[in-house]
Amino acid sequence: MPKQFHVPPRKFRVYTRRDLDRIPQLGRFSNDELLAMKAVACVLPFRVNDYVCDELIDWDHVPEDPIFQLTFPQPGMLADKDLRHMMDLLRADASEAELQKEARKIQIALNPHPAGQVELNVPRLEGTSLAGMQHKYRETVLFFPSSGQTCHTYCTYCFRWPQFVGLDELKFAAREADQLVAYLREHPEVNSVLFTGGDPMVMKTRVLRRYLEPLLAADLDHLVSIRIGTKAPAYWPQRFTVDDDADDLMRLFEEVHQAGRHLAIMAHYSHPRELDTVTAQAAVERLRTAGATVRCQAPLIKHVNDDAQTWADLWKRQIVLGAVPYYMFVERDTGPKHYFEVPLARAYDIFTTAYRRVSGLGRTVRGPSMSATPGKVLVDGVAEIHGEKVFVLKFLQARDPAWVNRVFFAKYDEKATWLDQLKPALGEKEWWFQPTIRAMKKQGWQPSWGDRSRARKRVTTFGHVEWE
Ligand SMILES: *Cc1c(COP(=O)(O)O)cnc(C)c1O
Ligand code: SF4
Repeated sequence: MPKQFHVPPRKFRVYTRRDLDRIPQLGRFSNDELLAMKAVACVLPFRVNDYVCDELIDWDHVPEDPIFQLTFPQPGMLADKDLRHMMDLLRADASEAELQKEARKIQIALNPHPAGQVELNVPRLEGTSLAGMQHKYRETVLFFPSSGQTCHTYCTYCFRWPQFVGLDELKFAAREADQLVAYLREHPEVNSVLFTGGDPMVMKTRVLRRYLEPLLAADLDHLVSIRIGTKAPAYWPQRFTVDDDADDLMRLFEEVHQAGRHLAIMAHYSHPRELDTVTAQAAVERLRTAGATVRCQAPLIKHVNDDAQTWADLWKRQIVLGAVPYYMFVERDTGPKHYFEVPLARAYDIFTTAYRRVSGLGRTVRGPSMSATPGKVLVDGVAEIHGEKVFVLKFLQARDPAWVNRVFFAKYDEKATWLDQLKPALGEKEWWFQPTIRAMKKQGWQPSWGDRSRARKRVTTFGHVEWE
């Protein structure tokens, strides 16, 4: 641990809905306000730890405080009638079973699986579905380790909320790391594995080791990078600094680096305050010392970070620490979206204003980007073409790799918040990729690039094997 960081020890303590009365800082709210929080927490996931409560939330400024909005249930997240209904049930001391039954109805109406999360992207191996994986973009496989399906604290806007409220029986649970390795052996087109969840960093080091070691031992010559998507650097930086197994974790990360793989910690930072504490800064420092790259991403969220200076500050703080700004996402079309959503036009303005305030070192960031059914779509500009005002859109990722980096145009719409609300511009009747999407759907979304017999092998100048 570098000298300048004196990281205070802390024991992980977590609060959920039933512990709301025990959070000392909530004493400032009235009984009715507390009841409303409990009502929302019956429907949407709630989990917060003591570090977030004690060091990140500014309690003098609740309820507007951005970290409070990020982590605590807010009455505006439910429709009035749903909120009142749940509050009445709580007042009447309804049973847990009844609360759950009524909450389910509200949950189902909240579009729990946007962009075909569940059914479209599950890969197959020898005829069996691999429930713990998703393979949507050719180069990258998402892997959901079954022991990493919670988080140190839940974000109120999370699109993964169905798996936290018990709506997904499968939880994308991975059987074993062996399945992942077997799949990768069959898929030389994949060069990146992204561990995700929940938060894989809720796993103890010895559990994570069980997933990473087989991957390294398999000596897959096409595997360039291993990524871990996590909010632990923000919500529980102790994981990388003072936790019992933090030192072991750093050794494990060093092993990945020494095995010649790029290890990227895809850190989810929503607000610059998450990088203010000594513990958070020490976490980044240690990760970098262990040979990991820290790349930073987050969605743009009303009430949390819908302001250009917040993003400029966030990116600058990341650069100071040697972390790399990576993505600004548009909030997905699920859950309490009405509460959090920011129109695309405004998102583009916020992004652009913030982007202008950082040097080129911060302009590694891309956004605002929507993870939609056809791919990751960037709002890349607003322009006028022959008198028609348009959004310039661009595929950053796509189901068909040939679409990547292609631009296309939508009619400018000040209010639209998602791709499906946009209309093609310049007289087009439908998007040019729509016929292919229909054909893909008909064929059960089986990608053509899964077929190894069609791939050609090539050894690059630096000794990596590529398939094209
Ligand atoms: C974002 C995403 C990835 C990773 O994309 P990069 O642009 O490589 O960071 C992979 N798979 C899915 C399904 C994604 O949404
Ligand atoms: S840390 Fe990520 S997975 Fe966990 S609640 Fe937040 S957005 Fe969702």
